[in-house]
Amino acid sequence: SIAYLNGEYLPLEEARISPLDRGFLFGDGIYEVIPYYNGKSVGLVPHIERMIDGLASVEIKCKKSADEWKVLLDDLIARNEGATNNLGVYVHVSRGTDVKRFHAYPENVEPTIFCFTFAIKDPEPVDREKVHAYTVTTSEDLRWKRCHIKSTALLGNVMHFQQGHASGNSECLLYNANNELTEGSSVNAYIVKDGVVITPIQDNQILPGITRRIIIDSLVADGSIKVEERNVTMDEVYSADEVWISSSSKEIAPITQIDGKPVGNGKVGPVWEAAFRIYTDAKFTHS
Ligand code: PMP
Repeated sequence: SIAYLNGEYLPLEEARISPLDRGFLFGDGIYEVIPYYNGKSVGLVPHIERMIDGLASVEIKCKKSADEWKVLLDDLIARNEGATNNLGVYVHVSRGTDVKRFHAYPENVEPTIFCFTFAIKDPEPVDREKVHAYTVTTSEDLRWKRCHIKSTALLGNVMHFQQGHASGNSECLLYNANNELTEGSSVNAYIVKDGVVITPIQDNQILPGITRRIIIDSLVADGSIKVEERNVTMDEVYSADEVWISSSSKEIAPITQIDGKPVGNGKVGPVWEAAFRIYTDAKFTHS
């Protein structure tokens, strides 16, 4: 595929950066993943805004405006035959390459900008009998206290994801020291109780997911399903009727088992199907 690196388009396997790049040495960077289905993006503007906010929060001085990002990403999708494929675009901005390894932010270093595309699956069917359901494990959230920043330093997330993976699950749901749900290692999390969708509040313990934003906004606009943003205890998770996860690549995905025990009756629930239909109808028009 064709990648973008510091102003140039080139075959992905030819892209090279210095080992002194601070992204490599310190995980000192911000990233995004944006889905495009047959050339149509989901949440492009909020994804770009989240990246610009993240870069500002760690003082990486990237000069690209939101409009310039939009042109770059749409162009990269077009160069990778995005009009007839489902592609994710990975965007990575590191603080750049210094002449030495030194923790302090260097002056006068240009950020490294790297983007590439990769194939993503077709959306799942809006059908609770046919959708792929996931199983998860659980762990105390042992990442850092700045989970709202989409940092490329993902070792904490990677270690939790591996906990799920190594035990034959596809995610790991995380809880804080107060036994409250935060999110999963690469996804936001939701429970459904008595028809109400409940998801943890957006604070420093979770990534402000764009899919989460589109889900909440589209459910509120539709009005037929009630949504609450509040703290969720793990007892509520274990006794929920339904549990879901969300991300740009998984959209809204149902969870049918937690730590080997069934969620609700162990089947994908009706609120998932209703919510996924509402989300699917709204996802391309949400700005
Ligand atoms: N939480 C974490 C920790 C993530 O890494 C991600 C993205 N994979 C999400 C939530 C979901 O965010 P989004 O909906 O913007 O993809």
